[in-house]
Amino acid sequence: MDFNLTQEQLQIREEIRKVCREFPDAYWREVEKQRAYPEAFVRKLTELGWLAAPIPEEYGGSGLGITESSIILEEVNRSGGSATTCHAQMYTMGTLLRHGGAEQKKRYLPKIASGELRLEAFAVTERDAGSETTRIQTTATRKGDKYIVNGQKIFISRVLESDLMLLLARTTPYDQLDDKTKGLSVFIVDLREARGKIDVKPLDIMINHHTNAVFFDGLEVPAENLVGEEGMGFRYIIDGWNAERILIAAEAIGDGRWFVERAAKYASERVVFGRPIGANQGVQFPIAQAHARIEAADLVRFQAATKFDRKERCGAEANMAKFLASEAAWEAANACLTTHGGYGFAVDYDVERKFRETRLLTIAPVSNNLVLAYLAQHVLRMPRSY
Ligand SMILES: Cc1cc2nc3c(=O)[nH]c(=O)nc-3n(C[C@H](O)[C@H](O)[C@H](O)COP(=O)(O)OP(=O)(O)OC[C@H]3O[C@@H](n4cnc5c(N)ncnc54)[C@H](O)[C@@H]3O)c2cc1C
Repeated sequence: MDFNLTQEQLQIREEIRKVCREFPDAYWREVEKQRAYPEAFVRKLTELGWLAAPIPEEYGGSGLGITESSIILEEVNRSGGSATTCHAQMYTMGTLLRHGGAEQKKRYLPKIASGELRLEAFAVTERDAGSETTRIQTTATRKGDKYIVNGQKIFISRVLESDLMLLLARTTPYDQLDDKTKGLSVFIVDLREARGKIDVKPLDIMINHHTNAVFFDGLEVPAENLVGEEGMGFRYIIDGWNAERILIAAEAIGDGRWFVERAAKYASERVVFGRPIGANQGVQFPIAQAHARIEAADLVRFQAATKFDRKERCGAEANMAKFLASEAAWEAANACLTTHGGYGFAVDYDVERKFRETRLLTIAPVSNNLVLAYLAQHVLRMPRSY
């Protein structure tokens, strides 16, 4: 058992910190004020190759593991930024890597690695299916050498900022299936070709996140863009869940550390009743407690990431890490906001922005109830609720 990061991992941390210093609080504040996409930041991370970290070297990436990828995203959030603006490439990549054909990998991966193409959109969620993904209704119907896509998706992030999108669609009607986890397929949609042929409606939401409702009305997708086998798409998506949960856990850890650091600093400097507010245990204990919970969650996150990189089963650890880290970050967010008193609500302090942003991690890309259901039913073998 070794709790220390390697020299290479420490160096990655340092490098990301250095990049993030070029994008301080004021940058993120302004981007949010404009409701803009943090294009300069994402371009910089891409140019330096960090968003292609998990792409194997043979395709031009750095061939790094989920551990290193998670450190990259953690540091973005710890700096005050938001990795949710560009994290999808890291976890959608696995679907293409594991299940894509040789030709697809050769066509897309080198260009994603070089930054020529962005794969930041991942279209799964639908209004009527919600968390029950096997109920999605968007169809992809084979017609010769094409699939024709009809239906609608909700909360699909970065469609307007991406070149490629992974789409989960139904290729066999639900009522014709014996096994309800079959009948869905994954496609690579080239958004550059689809522009004008799909309707993208940006959603006005609580954070600056660039998420959309997407409407498909007869979109043609070449059959060669089917990933893996037809009907196996849900399986492929599930295969990516552990990586996704570990990366989200790391982002939450980054947020949590940001909140704890800001709260401890403010509590030490703000003087009321003739002494720093942090001298009062009512102020310092919630911060210390949040710190302890973040550090504990971080151990589970590294346990999950290590097992993942060793190709060991890690469903339990990945889910626990996502749950513990997102809840700990939310607790830290509350402690930080409370510590700042009224100033916690002032945009210039950035606490309220991070407070809103970190709350998302308890709900998306998967809600913590569903994470607990996984632990209860698959790890603890309790009766299934769905
Ligand atoms: C900002 C943002 C960005 C997003 N980006 C994307 C994206 O890029 N691509 C994409 O495909 N999706 C995206 N999503 C969607 C996200 O993954 C879903 O919102 C999330 O999975 C929850 O689904 P839902 O909103 O339909 O909630 P519902 O399924 O309607 O659930 C509502 C509540 O009920 C609870 N619940 C439901 N069923 C059960 C049960 N059986 N037991 C206990 N509790 C239950 C849930 O935990 C949740 O708290 C995004 C969402 C947001 C808010």
